[in-house]
Amino acid sequence: MLARCYAERWPLRTAFVISRGSRTEAEVVVVEVKWDGVVGIGECTPYKRYGESPDSVIRKLKPLLSELAAGVGRDELQERLPAGAARNALDCALVDWERKYRGEEFSGPDSLPTVQTLVIDSPDAMAEAASIAIAEGVEVLKLKLDNLQVNERVAAVRAAAPGAQLVIDANEAWEADGLVQRCEQLAELGVAMLEQPLPARGDEFLETFPHPLPICADESCHTRVDLPRLAGRYEMVNIKLDKTGGITEAEALADEASAQGFELMLGCMLCTSRAIRAAWSLGPRARYLDLDGPTWLARDVQPPLRFGAGRVYWS
Ligand SMILES: [Mg+2]
Repeated sequence: MLARCYAERWPLRTAFVISRGSRTEAEVVVVEVKWDGVVGIGECTPYKRYGESPDSVIRKLKPLLSELAAGVGRDELQERLPAGAARNALDCALVDWERKYRGEEFSGPDSLPTVQTLVIDSPDAMAEAASIAIAEGVEVLKLKLDNLQVNERVAAVRAAAPGAQLVIDANEAWEADGLVQRCEQLAELGVAMLEQPLPARGDEFLETFPHPLPICADESCHTRVDLPRLAGRYEMVNIKLDKTGGITEAEALADEASAQGFELMLGCMLCTSRAIRAAWSLGPRARYLDLDGPTWLARDVQPPLRFGAGRVYWS
């Protein structure tokens, strides 16, 4: 099996602003594997929060890619690389190759629902972005927030989108102090779910009060190993292939989390349509799907997924 990996930069159509900072391009790493005339492709998005960069991911991948010819397969890969972006790209490339080699037809749903993300901006600008999304038919809005103007921003979006379901992602930016009252206020504003309010190391506080709305672990949940720590603290887990290290562990995490009573969210990083296709099979199992990464790109891979009215279409 021949294999190679390389970095790609995809400019965004507008800045993507979350509590952790602002981005103007998506940096991804692509793995291609080829054997018997069949090419499999996988993509990952290295994430600085988890100590990853395109260079570090490529450094991790290179020694393994040269061993693929000697028969290192998907099972062994799970042992050889830790969960994270590097394993994700290779795992997905191998899965893509397996499917094409067997001549498997695409068998998932033709489309999936997705939230539309509203990035951090002034309350007025977020309300404006919400109005535009609602006019386009979006039903679930995901608000990125930091620790400032929380009520103002949520109230402005709520006023602009009275019928929409709202979910919030604080990306670890909030503090335990005041969180109980803030959760109650959000529940009163009809917010349906709150993602990762506290830093992952501050999870214990979440078990000290009854949650008036479901709280979802994102930065705190990478693989099945994390689940025992999350029980009693979170009601939901956000599964992303860049955290699980591929679809192989993502499916195992979905099974185990469901068995333990967690609801599932399916998320993505800033990525191309390749990465969303790789996660597609998990879509029907998730309560919330956050698959709008490619909508932030100025241009996408060919052929791109189509997005419209709060859904993403396979073709
Ligand atoms: Mg998140």
